[in-house]
Amino acid sequence: MDLRERKEFEARVPEIAAAVEKKPVGWINPRLVSMKELPKDLAVTVEDIDDAEARLERFAPYIMKQFPETEKDGGLIESPFVEIPKMKELLKERHGCELAGRLYLKEDSQLVIAGSIKARGGIYEILKYAETLAIENGLLKTTDDYSILASQEFVDFFGRYTIQVGSTGNLGLSIGIISAKLGFKVIVHMSHDARQWKKDLLRSKGVTVKEYESDYGEAVKQGRKESDSDPTSYFVDDENSRDLFMGYSVAPRRLKKQLEAAGVFVDQDHPLFVYLPCGIGGAPGGIAYGLKTVFGDNVHCFFTEPVDSCCMLLGMATGLHDQVCVQDFGISGKTHADGLAVGRPSAFVGKFMEPMLSGIFTTGDAVLYDYMRDLMEAEGVFIEPSSCAAFAFAEVPERLGDYIKSQGLEEKQENITHIAWATGGRLVPEDVKEEYVHTHLA
Ligand SMILES: *Cc1c(COP(=O)(O)O)cnc(C)c1O
Repeated sequence: MDLRERKEFEARVPEIAAAVEKKPVGWINPRLVSMKELPKDLAVTVEDIDDAEARLERFAPYIMKQFPETEKDGGLIESPFVEIPKMKELLKERHGCELAGRLYLKEDSQLVIAGSIKARGGIYEILKYAETLAIENGLLKTTDDYSILASQEFVDFFGRYTIQVGSTGNLGLSIGIISAKLGFKVIVHMSHDARQWKKDLLRSKGVTVKEYESDYGEAVKQGRKESDSDPTSYFVDDENSRDLFMGYSVAPRRLKKQLEAAGVFVDQDHPLFVYLPCGIGGAPGGIAYGLKTVFGDNVHCFFTEPVDSCCMLLGMATGLHDQVCVQDFGISGKTHADGLAVGRPSAFVGKFMEPMLSGIFTTGDAVLYDYMRDLMEAEGVFIEPSSCAAFAFAEVPERLGDYIKSQGLEEKQENITHIAWATGGRLVPEDVKEEYVHTHLA
């Protein structure tokens, strides 16, 4: 993108101009349409979600056997859903955000095995690959009890194959841990943002970690190159993966049951607003699409990003998707929110979500740590800084108000259920947690 083009976008879209100045923004998507106006030939369908859900159920006996901490959920990897009224109070007191309605937290930060939202997409993609290999080689039928996959025969079989992935950290953790458990050889290509403890944890599980000085895009490129040169290697392609997306898309079906259990009612008069931290877009995209298939026009999905790596905002607001990166706008791509440190959005997710996304909020790094401390103080819950982007709406409450008005929901504001989708934190070691607690940025 040349400078003239960039200046044109800045002049045309005020949120792009503000983003360039690293100000938090609330962008409202002008291309949002109602569910019945969506194209009929969507690249991902409800049947695809059915298929993913059924696959995760087939694997439940295996997951339960290998990861006994999933027993209480019958081998499904699931997270709690809780109301956080004291956090809502603090958002008002300390950040001036008066939120009408109720505020909840979906704690994917507590997901077992990977400790982040990647336990949905990353693990799903590897399970699907393992299933496909085993079926193609006549070792498994979909009607089998999948706990047999824990046997030495299968570990030896999967050991003939290699899995590779590029990651800023959390995707590598999820892919590395599940792949190593199944018996695969695994190579994780880590960008410079990746935290040391994540590399150490992976190495302790027998995973090969390759480190790069470069950013995420470069780590992915190297990983893809190495994988492509080895016929027994499979590359998890975060930039284009449909399987990752499908793994995430199942979550809202399970959330629906949790909402019912919590007595949260969703209909035209009781809307659901969901805030999803966004890196490349796969996790928030898959979940948002799943939400749309479950709750239709009654759910309003927002992505949230750090101001320093607001790639989805730029992709969506320019309509150029993966044809732009943050550096095109003079934005560094460097952020403390390591899970979201992505400079170029997924092409697949951006285009797919374009008619379904309500908007995007961005937030500075400093306030992420404040939200983190607020949540600990108010609710006794720890989530990692990246995850705290879920509260980005509190920076620009007037923009949330504008959206509510634009949807004709002013009269129903008090009935809104807001869900901040926490995306990571469980595996963060105590000393790193301590370091986060004491991090105060200017
Ligand atoms: C990966 C990640 C996200 C976002 O997922 P993308 O698929 O990259 O958009 C959000 N939060 C955390 C903690 C993550 O690790």
